[in-house]
Amino acid sequence: MGDFMQGLVTNYDLHTHSTASDGVYTPAELVARAASAGIKVLALTDHDTTAGLAEAEAAARETGIRLISGVEISTTWQHKTLHVVGLNIDAEHALLQAGLQQLDAIRTERASEMGRRLEKAGIPGILEAAEALAGKGMLTRTHFAHCIASLGLAVDVRDVFNRYLTAGKPGYVSTRWADLDTAIAWIRAAGGVAVLAHPQRYQLTGSWLRRLLGEFREMGGAGLEVLSGTAPPGDVQSSTALAMRFDLLASCGSDFHGPDECWPKLGRLPALPAGLNPVWHAFENPGTATRDAQ
Ligand code: AMP
Ligand code: MN
Ligand code: MN
Ligand code: MN
Repeated sequence: MGDFMQGLVTNYDLHTHSTASDGVYTPAELVARAASAGIKVLALTDHDTTAGLAEAEAAARETGIRLISGVEISTTWQHKTLHVVGLNIDAEHALLQAGLQQLDAIRTERASEMGRRLEKAGIPGILEAAEALAGKGMLTRTHFAHCIASLGLAVDVRDVFNRYLTAGKPGYVSTRWADLDTAIAWIRAAGGVAVLAHPQRYQLTGSWLRRLLGEFREMGGAGLEVLSGTAPPGDVQSSTALAMRFDLLASCGSDFHGPDECWPKLGRLPALPAGLNPVWHAFENPGTATRDAQ
């Protein structure tokens, strides 16, 4: 943008979850809360599903908030799980929906295996409990975590992840998600912008992160989530430098799941650092988002 300051807060939140995956609020509740927190442009980006978008869109029309159709796709690159947010997608696109269907099947299979392993670890019936909690929503580790926590087997959800649900722990199932390039292709086919979510959360070294972003861009990825709800200032600085170096559009999203977690108090993230090209410019100028891989 070139402005010295883009303001102290942004009205954009381009990464949030609802009960369509592992969020606490229904899509309509989420939109209402975002609106009263001052958000003007909201993307609903549930894990591997667009099922919440119609309800969110209807609620957005009532509140005057602008809803961006989104999704957070689980991908695998070099044996690592990476999340790619697709923004401004045509949620009905057949290729995208076929891809999300595959991920649904992968999740169902993984959940069964998690249930078997957790049963062996002395927690019977946990698959059924997690399924009941997820309801019609996409089943995630978060649902297992809440059920295990409510059994009193850990102090909180984070503790459950550490004890049961992360690599090397009894309920962890290593999973092959969509290939990174494939997921980017689905998003682009659906007319969306592919944004690498929370880049500092993958515990990659600097050189791996640079390698990832080089490949991500070659695959047609266009954006980087520079501001993420939980990212400390040092991470924001690193991501800012990476967005500039790899000429990626900058996104900002709270990754809001529910009130227990850290959504900035006013529901607003700080403004993007100056000098970055905000991803929402691509919504107004689609040529930026769907440029050919180079
Ligand atoms: P899944 O995609 O089913 O493997 O679940 C991933 C989700 O679990 C993330 O989107 C987070 O919402 C949640 N999650 C992952 N790690 C943790 C953690 N250490 N503490 C709390 N929630 C976590
Ligand atoms: Mn989640
Ligand atoms: Mn994520
Ligand atoms: Mn997320």
